[in-house]
Amino acid sequence: MTKNTPEFPLAKLHFDNAFTRELPADPLLENMRRQVTGSCYSRVKPTKVAQPSLIAYAREVADLLDLDKDSCMSELFTEVFSGNSILTGMDPFAMCYGGHQFGNWAGQLGDGRAINLGEIVNSRDERWVLQLKGAGPTPYSRRADGLAVLRSSVREFLCSEAMYHLGVPTTRALSLIDTGEPVLRDMFYDGHPEEEPGAIVCRVAPSFLRFGNYEILASRGDKELLKRLADYTIKTDFPHLDQTAEDIYLQWFSEVCSRTARLIVHWMRVGFVHGVMNTDNMSILGLTIDYGPYGWLEDYDPEWTPNTTDSVGKRYAFSNQGLIAQWNLVQLANTLYPLINDATALQSTLDNAYTREFTSGWKTMMANKIGLDRFIDESDTHLIKELTDILQEAETDMTIFFRQLAKLDISETLDISQVPEQLIQAYYRPEQLTPVYLNRLHKWFKDYRHRFQAGSITNSARTALMDRTNPKYVLRNYLAQEAIDKAANGDNSGVHELLELLRRPYDEQPEMEKQYYRKRPEWARHKPGCSMLS
Ligand code: AMP
Ligand code: MG
Repeated sequence: MTKNTPEFPLAKLHFDNAFTRELPADPLLENMRRQVTGSCYSRVKPTKVAQPSLIAYAREVADLLDLDKDSCMSELFTEVFSGNSILTGMDPFAMCYGGHQFGNWAGQLGDGRAINLGEIVNSRDERWVLQLKGAGPTPYSRRADGLAVLRSSVREFLCSEAMYHLGVPTTRALSLIDTGEPVLRDMFYDGHPEEEPGAIVCRVAPSFLRFGNYEILASRGDKELLKRLADYTIKTDFPHLDQTAEDIYLQWFSEVCSRTARLIVHWMRVGFVHGVMNTDNMSILGLTIDYGPYGWLEDYDPEWTPNTTDSVGKRYAFSNQGLIAQWNLVQLANTLYPLINDATALQSTLDNAYTREFTSGWKTMMANKIGLDRFIDESDTHLIKELTDILQEAETDMTIFFRQLAKLDISETLDISQVPEQLIQAYYRPEQLTPVYLNRLHKWFKDYRHRFQAGSITNSARTALMDRTNPKYVLRNYLAQEAIDKAANGDNSGVHELLELLRRPYDEQPEMEKQYYRKRPEWARHKPGCSMLS
């Protein structure tokens, strides 16, 4: 085994565990399920695993921690990020939080299968928290086992990094490790549990605090600790805010609103559906957090949700995400009320910093998707609405449609008897391209052309704007599933290839086109893992 000699980068990691140092800990050290009050976390160690092996690591995240390739390929790395070894300076703990799940207050939840190892301050003076997901039970595990299976870990690992490279705020993923131990799971909740390979992801973020961390304290009437946690958050994660300002909590809430607005606009831009936007899955930093039953829109269907347990209510469907984020922010506003005592100010902050920012951000983003540098209400409201209606009239692949639209020279006259050849590959069902549909589509092209002629943007500027707004490659649900199926058979090449591909989602990468720039194949339409998840 690689020795953790002083010159080895893993030994040089500089831990500075502000969270455990500054906030009160659960006095009990026993690892048993319980309600934890009067504290923000419980110290708990990861459970050791039999035979961990590294499936993949993300070099950009290793860079954040000043870890080189040799460190990441070392046995010690696998030992540490499977939870088998604790480095000097680490202070492992699980956080206490609550949450509203599907609209109802669920009480204490907490890190049931996440264990924070410690906080690193890197050579650039940035703070990064390391967190293992799937490393065994904690006091917050309730009736579950604290473990994670390979399929969900591959999905979390790949999607975290894909989102980062797409420019979407997200928690990061350093490593994906096979534990060598099976986990029993009832994948379809039909009473037929099966053994699946277990895995652990090491997540990395400046903070893993969620709305639920504050909610649990307010729900218990613990105003003093709520204030302490809020002060801690502002000092540590919002250092640009003036802590002595009289309205500091309102300023902070306002920034959380703005960040959340920007986050959801990004999701809408790339076609991401989180799937479980409970308040315990809302990051206080406005990051995408907790990759569970998420999915990517393939055919543009605003009502689509990847989460089977949400298939009736569709609370967390694609087009609902803006409203749900607002609902979640209302819960946060209620939570912070004891610190602010001004309902009118909270409401107007919500209206201005969330609702208005989300609406204007969404408009600009949609304009950018079709190559307009700004959204003009009078002309573009109709233009965008009509386009999103058309996209639903015939089953159309969202990613391919927008990407290909940039390739259409709009100054050219189009043959109105067919779909322009640049776009044809975006359609799932050729029989839906009826004369009525074509008529509507070409009428839209005409309006679109007029809009450009009225503006001053050149065709090449339009294309460039579209190509940096519309990704060519996203983590399509079936692509992730194919990589998972391979990995379950001991072949990690699919994971590596996707990780590589998704590093440059806006680049053409012509050599990858044939395999990855493809709409969902028919076999994947209803296949578990490829279309729906739970
Ligand atoms: P999620 O729906 O994954 O965001 O999880 C909601 C809550 O359930 C969180 O407190 C999780 O930590 C917990 N949880 C989810 N899966 C497990 C598991 N396998 N073992 C223990 N706790 C879990
Ligand atoms: Mg969660």
